[in-house]
Amino acid sequence: MVENNYWNSKIETLTKTELKKLQLKRLKSIVSHCYNNSSFYKKKFDKSNLKPSDIRNLADLEKIPFTVKNDLRDNYPLGMKAAKMDDLVEIHASSGTTGNPIIGSYTSEDMTIWEELMARTIYTAGGRKSDVLHNAYGYGLFTGGLGFHYGAQKLGSLIVPISGGMTQKQIKLIKDLKATILCCTPSFAVYLAEVMAKQGIIPSKDLDLRIGLFGAEPWSERIRERIQKELSLEAFDIYGLTELFGPGVSIECNQHDGLHIWEDHFLIETIDPKTGEVLPSGEEGELVFTTLTKNALPMLRFRTRDISVIKEEKCACGRTHSRMLKIRGRSDDMLIIRGVNVFPSQIESVVMGFPELATQYQIIVDRPGALDTFTINVELRNLELYNQINHEKLKNGIKNKIRDITSLSAAINIVQCGELPRSAGKAKHVLDLRKGKM
Ligand code: ADP
Ligand code: ZN
Repeated sequence: MVENNYWNSKIETLTKTELKKLQLKRLKSIVSHCYNNSSFYKKKFDKSNLKPSDIRNLADLEKIPFTVKNDLRDNYPLGMKAAKMDDLVEIHASSGTTGNPIIGSYTSEDMTIWEELMARTIYTAGGRKSDVLHNAYGYGLFTGGLGFHYGAQKLGSLIVPISGGMTQKQIKLIKDLKATILCCTPSFAVYLAEVMAKQGIIPSKDLDLRIGLFGAEPWSERIRERIQKELSLEAFDIYGLTELFGPGVSIECNQHDGLHIWEDHFLIETIDPKTGEVLPSGEEGELVFTTLTKNALPMLRFRTRDISVIKEEKCACGRTHSRMLKIRGRSDDMLIIRGVNVFPSQIESVVMGFPELATQYQIIVDRPGALDTFTINVELRNLELYNQINHEKLKNGIKNKIRDITSLSAAINIVQCGELPRSAGKAKHVLDLRKGKM
């Protein structure tokens, strides 16, 4: 790999020993910063009889209690901050399904780091100054839109800040401005491809797209295959969350074998989501992040609820920063149906395996009596198929595959093309109607 494939070759290729040294130095400093500037962390440390000076090496991290999403909600809006109000220059917030949203706050130093991280992230996926980034992530409180915006500007690329929605206008601008990089959720990419196909646009001939930066929600390898083919681009998975700046925490390199986590800014652990026990790297579990350089809202051992596996080995691209495998799902998205653990991503990979089906699907779980019902709504890929296919045969095919991977028998509903809801942001695939009935 040639030198100029790195945004910052010195940082991205540090040896593990050098990386660990840097992490320890930064960990000690962020722990003192938290203790001295955030009443939330000071209380937490005092309660556990812990002093910043007790953190002497990276293994001491385990002494620090976890931080959870509810800590942020309970301290809404800015109760956890570790900087003076006067030093805050920006806030963002997560969509937050119920209750108070989670607010991320940033000092101007934090903004500079985030911008750098996003530039490095886009660069790792192959984005360059000469690129035109079509940014369909939502602008506003959501970290997606502005995160890409700042990173692209740092890189010097041309950014089209279209935000979400307005599908027709999106397609027109992608075409007319000769966008080379598409940034949006994978669900929106699928939708764009669908609308383009209806309009007779052939991306390989009519568009200049070469890279897609897709994230903010879990998506399967099957979806990747479809998006790559239908939009004629190379799709990269990008991960991040409001609590850790936003996007720019990790990104796939050209090897597409996991997402490099920028370990000079984040310490990563995997834990058993049930017991909180730290797992050896290589085992699947919940990702826990400690931010090493964020000032306004540092996160010490933040439990993401995202399930993945960490690979520490050096990557063929030459980068030394560990990789996380594609997120399997959120621990709180995991459905327990008739006692069996099911991740929506498992269902997705089955649905995507049937060429007759569109990428939209819905999982509906209910409990009308004593037993859970488990229904999957799938949609046909085009209108003509409705009269061409053998519905029973297709239903049974899907049902058998679902049984193979979950051991559950599901009711399959095939609906006409275009009937299931589309999303410009994060898709909602699960309707759990049991809530309140259990
Ligand atoms: P929320 O979705 O909780 O309102 P955020 O906008 O901060 O808040 O989203 C962060 C969450 O989105 C992550 O914790 C993760 O569950 C999900 N996410 C982000 N990027 C990815 C990705 N590439 N793959 C899977 N899930 C992702
Ligand atoms: Zn790599």
